[in-house]
Amino acid sequence: MRDLAVDVRRLTRIYGQGRTAVKALDEVNLTVERGAFVAIMGPSGSGKSTLLNIIGGLDRPTAGEVYIGDVEVTALPESQLYQIRRNQVGFVFQSFHLSPLLNTLDNVLLPALPIGIDRARRERAIELLDRVGMRSRLNRRPGELSSGEQQRVALARALIMDPHLVLADEPTGNLDSRTGAEVIRLIEELNQELGKSFLLVTHDSRIARRCHRIVYLRDGRLCSAEEAGIEDVA
Ligand code: ADP
Ligand code: MG
Repeated sequence: MRDLAVDVRRLTRIYGQGRTAVKALDEVNLTVERGAFVAIMGPSGSGKSTLLNIIGGLDRPTAGEVYIGDVEVTALPESQLYQIRRNQVGFVFQSFHLSPLLNTLDNVLLPALPIGIDRARRERAIELLDRVGMRSRLNRRPGELSSGEQQRVALARALIMDPHLVLADEPTGNLDSRTGAEVIRLIEELNQELGKSFLLVTHDSRIARRCHRIVYLRDGRLCSAEEAGIEDVA
């Protein structure tokens, strides 16, 4: 059994063709140990979202491989990739991506909908919402929640299928610094309590500093903090 949550090997993603082609990722190698909390930093356009999207099976690489645990996700057909995406990986986005018509509880249950929502699943959803401090807001729709509350709901949704890995793309990007710090604290606690691996993109050095490890990207390649134009915070 491999002891890695994620193993990325020589991952390359080229968008477009010919003269307009953009190399968003250029032979990136990255491993994330089980239970690790890893930050990704880099300037806008450096490939951070592309990397997360391919790891989570939302996008396909031009070349290279991604393993989630023992499974080479980049070798899977779409039908199986879908299951990995649903069962093994949780996503948290900058803009929350909650369904505006569903209340808090139903938003958290949404990833479980295709396999059926039984009582145990509902209880788990409520437990998670309790854990992120949203138990008293089960019937509210996203429009009736603050930004920080919406991201807490999104965090509970990311955990509903009990994934090994949570991918968070600038989860505090739409939050004020205090609310952002609260969400990060929560992510830290969940990382420690549940042993989930977190891979988190952030522009905030104070947040990155709290992670176990920081990796830097520039022009689709891993680099040093200095090369990424970021003051070394480690
Ligand atoms: P980051 O998240 O670090 O800001 P991205 O991964 O979004 O960077 O983008 C990396 C590079 O790939 C950028 O040059 C961006 O313009 C390009 N890119 C991203 N998505 C697409 C796409 N769907 N089509 C064409 N180019 C894209
Ligand atoms: Mg991005």
